[in-house]
Amino acid sequence: MQSAGKATQWTYIGTGAVEELVQFLKEQGVSTVVLVSDKNTDGAAGAELHRRLSDGGFRSERVVLAGDEVIADEWYLAKVLVSAPAENCVFVAVGAGTVTDITRLVSHRMKVPFVSYPTAASVDGFASIGAPVVLDGVKITLIAQAPIAIFADLNVLKSAPAELTAAGFGDMLGKLTSIADWRLGNLVWEEPYEASIAERTLTAVKLCTENVGEIARRTSLGLEGLLEALIESGTCMLDFGTSRPASGSEHHISHYWEMRLLQEQRPAILHGAKVAVATAMIADLYDRIRGLSRAEVKERLERSPLPGRESEVQAIRAAYGPTAESVIAEHEPFLGMTEAQYDRIKQRIADHWNDILAVSAEVPQAEFIRTQLHRAGAPTTPAELGLGEEEAQAGFLYGHYLRNRFTVVKLARMLDMHRE
Ligand SMILES: [Zn+2]
Repeated sequence: MQSAGKATQWTYIGTGAVEELVQFLKEQGVSTVVLVSDKNTDGAAGAELHRRLSDGGFRSERVVLAGDEVIADEWYLAKVLVSAPAENCVFVAVGAGTVTDITRLVSHRMKVPFVSYPTAASVDGFASIGAPVVLDGVKITLIAQAPIAIFADLNVLKSAPAELTAAGFGDMLGKLTSIADWRLGNLVWEEPYEASIAERTLTAVKLCTENVGEIARRTSLGLEGLLEALIESGTCMLDFGTSRPASGSEHHISHYWEMRLLQEQRPAILHGAKVAVATAMIADLYDRIRGLSRAEVKERLERSPLPGRESEVQAIRAAYGPTAESVIAEHEPFLGMTEAQYDRIKQRIADHWNDILAVSAEVPQAEFIRTQLHRAGAPTTPAELGLGEEEAQAGFLYGHYLRNRFTVVKLARMLDMHRE
């Protein structure tokens, strides 16, 4: 994502969200509403919203996306586009991640606003402007728009499948490693960093870790806190202008797995569930970084060679198959690095080792992260996701190629720790 957009104007989380939404739309002078949902979220909230809006004098169009697995791909995007009326309207995304992203992109391209009506506290994308979509089988994020308002009904959130709430918790715990990676990127790769945004994101994570029992029991307090945290994380991305605060090496692993499942035509796994498992893996790595002595770091850096361009490109082609070319293009700043640039990075790592240790010290121990995830009902191992040992490892070895960002995985490669 490249540029910041307009922030969400209004957020309501509570009971009676339908009345609040109807009132809001009346105040905005809206006459036509397009409700986008899938068959599950239509049952959970869409049908009821349609009835209430129609009774309230709105023209309400209901687009229910069919199929067991809705993907934000060309087919579903076109489906929403052709179902929309050719008149001024406001879209309402009734659902979680995918329905919201499809609605976000279509409404943006039609130059009309949309309202988010989350049916599960499962992802942190509600408030953001980026729409992760799958085009020609490749997962990319297109700039679209933030919703003008978010309305969530606690009773709807409570009725959502438990694994969706657990996934939302997993997506939030991923910020513990994404923020640390972001700070490493700033120290070593001179990526722009904003401490206030990192702090806000970590405060949002705390709202979840301190309420894990409430979240696990799906109480009003727990769900309200979790959704607030997810919305805040999305707002932080929006305020910073890229997904950097909320997405580090744990997300790269998750994206790698997602693309691989898609290529092999296997069923998708919830985003937050993949992020949960990957976060535990990355926390293991931070544990190991903390265990390195300065002398060992010095010695490892001295024998660290600049990765050869050809072997790197070959590795990307082998790992990414038909989508390799776009990955190579994204990774060009690293692939085109000279010996002198590589030495400079090594020097920065040596010079900033105490800072790197301080960043690592802020990542909770992997054991704490696994315990938290387990308490929230989220998976902690690749096997629980149905992924094999080789696939788990491949995410670790090849996920980092997906973004031009410095992360702890890149640090581990430079220190020759990634295959240990
Ligand atoms: Zn995420």
